[in-house]
Amino acid sequence: MRIIFIGPPGAGKGTQAEKIVSHYKLVHLSTGVMLRVAVAEKTEIGLQAEKYMSSGQFVPDDVIIGIISERLNAQDCKKGFLLDGFPRTLTQAAALDEMLQKNNTPLDIVLELKVPDDELFRRLAERGRDDDKPNVIHNRLAVYAEQTLPLLQYYAKQSLLKTIDGQGSINIIFERMKETLDKFI
Ligand code: ADP
Repeated sequence: MRIIFIGPPGAGKGTQAEKIVSHYKLVHLSTGVMLRVAVAEKTEIGLQAEKYMSSGQFVPDDVIIGIISERLNAQDCKKGFLLDGFPRTLTQAAALDEMLQKNNTPLDIVLELKVPDDELFRRLAERGRDDDKPNVIHNRLAVYAEQTLPLLQYYAKQSLLKTIDGQGSINIIFERMKETLDKFI
């Protein structure tokens, strides 16, 4: 199964992604996690990415596309994957389409986890990660609306989009996900 998982910061994507990949035995490809590891290890990419992340901006497309294309070609991704945090722009989506076409591995579904803005703000303020300061949160939500929301239409046109209500308990949301994903196993 090949899944893209889209949702605004604070929607609970990370939590649900963990549950999905463990239940369906998929590889979890989270660009946020990859970048935070690169920052912690002070690699060249990490040093480059840090300034964007701390202000709530996106890391440049070519950097992210490079990271993902390398990772997607690895052997373990053959059994299926969940992309979490990528693509986030139309340029990234087009690059991904090209990679998947080349490998003859089309997507099964694009899941959107939907949560209202006031609830997102509340959750992010509570989480308190480095990039969860109020002005940075504001910026991340604005960048999401501007750059990532257009992807929903892009995937809806390909009849791949399924929107899931991201409010409720972790388990109830996971049940909603499974109802949709079970059709693809
Ligand atoms: P979120 O809480 O928004 O889901 P992530 O952990 O996915 O956060 O990502 C944290 C930060 O890493 C983003 O705000 C952004 O700066 C950077 N980042 C992650 N994925 C991408 C991407 N596909 N394109 C550009 N920047 C990215």
